[in-house]
Amino acid sequence: MTSFMIGDVSVTGIIDLPDFQIPMATLFPASDSGRLDAERHWLSPDFLMNGDVRLTVRSWLLRVSGRNILVDACVGDHKERPHRKEWHRRVGGDWIAALAENQLRPEDVDVVFCTHMHADHVGWNTRLENDRWVPTFPNARYICSRVEFDHWQAETAAKDAQAAPNCFEDSVLPVMQAGLMDLVDDGRELASGLILRSSAGHTPGHMSMEVSRGGQSGIFCGDAIHSPIQMVMPEWSSAFCSDPDQARVTRYALLETLAETGDILVPMHFGGKAHCRVKPVGNAFRPDFD
Ligand SMILES: [Zn+2]
Repeated sequence: MTSFMIGDVSVTGIIDLPDFQIPMATLFPASDSGRLDAERHWLSPDFLMNGDVRLTVRSWLLRVSGRNILVDACVGDHKERPHRKEWHRRVGGDWIAALAENQLRPEDVDVVFCTHMHADHVGWNTRLENDRWVPTFPNARYICSRVEFDHWQAETAAKDAQAAPNCFEDSVLPVMQAGLMDLVDDGRELASGLILRSSAGHTPGHMSMEVSRGGQSGIFCGDAIHSPIQMVMPEWSSAFCSDPDQARVTRYALLETLAETGDILVPMHFGGKAHCRVKPVGNAFRPDFD
């Protein structure tokens, strides 16, 4: 289990899917594997194996001033996800058990911050009870971007009514209808030293969280970056980015900032050690996992 401190904030990774693989050409449509040849010695096997990008689907649990804050809620159980077999009608995910290993019951969670509303970031927001989706965390405030909510609400209204429920319908709307969701804008302070920032591109309302406490800082960047491969090739946006050009600009700015400050990069999908510092190398970057 990955655990580390940012100042007085304890940070623990809560894994839903330990090893999720996507062919590199599928995940990064602009990719050219030959351009990674000089880097394979450290990319393989943790991040790239037999042409597949290896990802982890993970939440982060932050404990700060007696409060329990979750960043993102992974895939969840029982969701209709016919386009992705590893997620579809899944049963028996260990994510809730991983929370319990950290002495945390769902009712102990104070805040759930979702960086964006893709199915691998909102899934455990809800659980199935008597055929209805109910909030998993009855005492939490769920924090989401207003821009993001409005975007997926419009997308959902336009979708085929016969299609399977999307993650907005089964993992976001039930929370809003239960009165547990707060929609926020850029600059919202979640707790002292924890500030939400717009980092659009992967999705229209994507947000990151900057944490600065006790002289240390880090950025929980959601899917602004998926894999260390994008430190070597920052221009490779994912096939799942709603605006690949904006995603590239956002990623460069994030990596440039962290290379300058030496602060910690905390993505959602890196395998292995899962968080790193950022070193500048030429026009690109490399992770420093020490
Ligand atoms: Zn994701």
